[in-house]
Amino acid sequence: MIAYMYHNIDKPPKEAKLKTLYLKPSMFKRQLYILSKLGYKSISGKDNLLNIDLEKNYEKKIVLLTFDDGYKDFIQNAYPTIEEYGYKAIIFVVANEIGNFNRWDYKVLNVKKYLMDLEDLRFLIKKGFIIGSHTLNHPFLTKISKEEAKKEIDYSKKLLEDKLGVAIETFCYPYGDYNQDIAKMVEEAGYKYAFTTKDGKIKDSEDRFQLKRINIFGNTYLPKFILKTVRSE
Ligand SMILES: [Zn+2]
Repeated sequence: MIAYMYHNIDKPPKEAKLKTLYLKPSMFKRQLYILSKLGYKSISGKDNLLNIDLEKNYEKKIVLLTFDDGYKDFIQNAYPTIEEYGYKAIIFVVANEIGNFNRWDYKVLNVKKYLMDLEDLRFLIKKGFIIGSHTLNHPFLTKISKEEAKKEIDYSKKLLEDKLGVAIETFCYPYGDYNQDIAKMVEEAGYKYAFTTKDGKIKDSEDRFQLKRINIFGNTYLPKFILKTVRSE
């Protein structure tokens, strides 16, 4: 099983810093084409990630497409392609910023990136996509107090469940920042899985609260993508 980490699927705006967070829609399309040719199947969101026995599926050709932050460009540029290939995706949203913009890093990145609103998220759920929590405000969880971290982890789950009417069972650490205490909090909050930014395939020994992903950036051209996908570590 492989999980991929994406951010924006779009052309980067001129003024944006860290342009590698943007993957061009044409490149995204080619990546999904390759995955389908290699025989990778997606999980079905309707069945839900949780109905998949992760342990039994480590070796299977299952792909989890994950998107951090829940940008509006997902609906415009990623969703149609994902549907075209019959795949699904997990989108990690920042619960306090739904329908807003990337308040946590727009100054650093020099660009306001708009985020999907509730209507978008409800539409995706109806289509079998999975929404996960990416906290309330996208902080570095190890750099705030334990109480604050717990609130970010617990309340984002409750808030999303209230607003979306589905169980929120997957979590993603903002900036990939976590430690054992944070992972424990995520487990205790009732999540079933948590994704990191550690690069690699999901192996059978993997801790469910420290899942790796293959990091995809704007410069992940096709040869590199294929190499990352087929290599066995
Ligand atoms: Zn993020």
